[in-house]
Amino acid sequence: MTAKIIDGKAVRDEILCQLKNEMETLKQQGVTPGLAVVIVGDNPASKLYVGMKIKKCKELGMHSAVHEKSADITQEELVALIHQLNEDENIHGILVQLPLPAHIQEEAIISAIDAKKDVDGFHPYNVGNLMIGDAYFLPCTPAGIIALLKHYNMEIAGKHAVVVGRSNIVGKPVSLLLLEEHATVTMCHSKTSNLAEIVSQGDIVIAATGRPDLLGKEHIKPGAVVIDVGSPKSDVKFEEVKEVASYITPVPGGVGPMTIAMLMKNTVLAAKQRIENTTIQV
Ligand code: NAP
Repeated sequence: MTAKIIDGKAVRDEILCQLKNEMETLKQQGVTPGLAVVIVGDNPASKLYVGMKIKKCKELGMHSAVHEKSADITQEELVALIHQLNEDENIHGILVQLPLPAHIQEEAIISAIDAKKDVDGFHPYNVGNLMIGDAYFLPCTPAGIIALLKHYNMEIAGKHAVVVGRSNIVGKPVSLLLLEEHATVTMCHSKTSNLAEIVSQGDIVIAATGRPDLLGKEHIKPGAVVIDVGSPKSDVKFEEVKEVASYITPVPGGVGPMTIAMLMKNTVLAAKQRIENTTIQV
């Protein structure tokens, strides 16, 4: 069996096309969705990711503002910037590109973002709602993974999903979303014993470790769906795993484009929410 390659760029483009229509409706109502991105320091990967996000904003006709700050900014100064963006009428979504320098507490910065503008879905309020199955903003990469599975009509309910990685931004939230879709979910991490034995039971395998080539064909049950979140290098040995899986995401071109599509979707949602004047009580 050779796996079908999941085309994240094509699915992203479909989503962006739908969003363009929604943007037109919003503009007719006098609203242009706006995204502010805050980046601290000179991390080349962060700069690349921010550049890609802003490019998509511009293509969609969305308002965007990048706030580049030097690595020696203080936590208080960064919180003050977030508060200023919280009050900015032209900004519907705020994204702080992670990681931040070590002297800044990420939780303090994320918590300073107005939950109604938290388009990354990382604010504790939004994380809590995700936990109880009532999320408003879904975190972008996990939501993108579920959207990919659904786009390809893959059954999730009743399947055994094995998630490798337990970070707050990918592993944990994607596990919750899979559970919400009625999968039976197993989570693995760096202290998991017998990784190959556990992962090879998965009908759906999500690899989100940042460990290049961690999973090979010995980890994959024949016919399993394999989603590789690794970036910029793949977590999965693509060439050998594609010979046993039924579906597989490439790196690049799989999950990455979906993350950006979901960010755009959340920003449009935030703008709509402002119009509809639905309030989030925090
Ligand atoms: P992270 O915060 O570093 O977490 C990595 C997770 O992998 C941890 O839970 C860790 O376990 C686990 N892990 C590490 N080595 C392992 C091993 N040998 N066996 C089993 N588990 C292991 O990373 P992240 O932020 O979740 O990101 C993961 C990857 O996805 C990275 O390559 C990142 O660049 C990529 N990513 C891509 C996108 C995208 O849009 N394409 C978005 C976000 C992230 P412990 O908890 O025990 O340490």
